[in-house]
Amino acid sequence: MNLSEVGEFGLIDRIRRRIVAPAGVVRGIGDDAAELTLPDGHTLLTSTDLLIEEIHFRFDWTDPYRLGRKAVAVNLSDLAAMGATPRYLYLGLACPAGSELERLDAFTDGVLSEAAAHGVTLVGGDTCRSPGPWMISVVVEGSAPAGQSLGRDGARPGDLLLVSGTLGDSALALSLLQRGLAVDTTLLEQHLTPRAQVALGQALAASGLVSAMIDVSDGLTADLRHLLQASGVGAELELTAIPLSTDFRRHCTRNPQTIDLALSGGEDYQLLFTAAAGAEAQIMEIAARCGETVHCIGRITRGDGSVLLHDSRGQWLPLAGQGYDHFAVADLDDREVRS
Ligand code: ADP
Ligand code: MG
Repeated sequence: MNLSEVGEFGLIDRIRRRIVAPAGVVRGIGDDAAELTLPDGHTLLTSTDLLIEEIHFRFDWTDPYRLGRKAVAVNLSDLAAMGATPRYLYLGLACPAGSELERLDAFTDGVLSEAAAHGVTLVGGDTCRSPGPWMISVVVEGSAPAGQSLGRDGARPGDLLLVSGTLGDSALALSLLQRGLAVDTTLLEQHLTPRAQVALGQALAASGLVSAMIDVSDGLTADLRHLLQASGVGAELELTAIPLSTDFRRHCTRNPQTIDLALSGGEDYQLLFTAAAGAEAQIMEIAARCGETVHCIGRITRGDGSVLLHDSRGQWLPLAGQGYDHFAVADLDDREVRS
């Protein structure tokens, strides 16, 4: 069966029937607007991301279930970067009238399972026909105790620069897919179903030890620069301290250029943050309690967004490169899948 047989309202009803709304949802799917409550003393944090077929994903490389999970995870990552608790989700979906219901159900499964894993409820959205590509627009709302959320603008000279997890796996997987080469399973999973660092983000914000935070979605180089510019500082980055997975290291041994993907690849969805030098041990403890790893990769200096890279030969070099920019691709190819 395809979408045209059940129609817009048939699809919305299929989604609505699967929602079990918690007490905070006064009105969810089915009314003109969602009406929601937040815990006393909390502020509202909202973020949104678009995923467009052939720009962000291809059904040749992913399946609808993983796509649904990723659509939610990339949004949760933005709330994680603020240290917020995610609560509510909205799903905007445009797809061709001939889309298979099976595919839509699998996509909804992915959306709802990723949401449920973080205690997030789908409370609304919009559904319409697309002349071609699938277009997915997710909005996520969360909350944080007033005054506790973390911005990009709090880094100070002398702070340590830290990052969670490992970098480059997702970009390496994408690069292998684009070249038609075999992709290691763990790298592929990082690319197709990234995990947002929600618990770690909340724990870091609650600790009061972190001065600034951002999630790495456009690549370390670009997102570090965003944080530095917002804070009006510079940084020194230790190339050899950048955390890499075992699979990534193996590819680096074969082709040393691979390291560029850890610097500017993107879609890592790890947390990049700064903290006073004396806080390192406590931060490592917090990460361990969350079941995550954190590595110190440099330090904050005076400056205005500039980064000095300490490379593996011990040389200091200005860090070049910008990371991914949707409108600044050198040879703009609308069919190229990048995030
Ligand atoms: P409107 O015409 O006011 O935009 P709709 O008929 O589009 O209302 O939507 C009806 C209800 O279904 C609304 O509560 C809306 O939030 C919800 N909704 C529509 N599409 C989706 C979707 N893809 N996922 C979740 N809820 C949806
Ligand atoms: Mg509508």
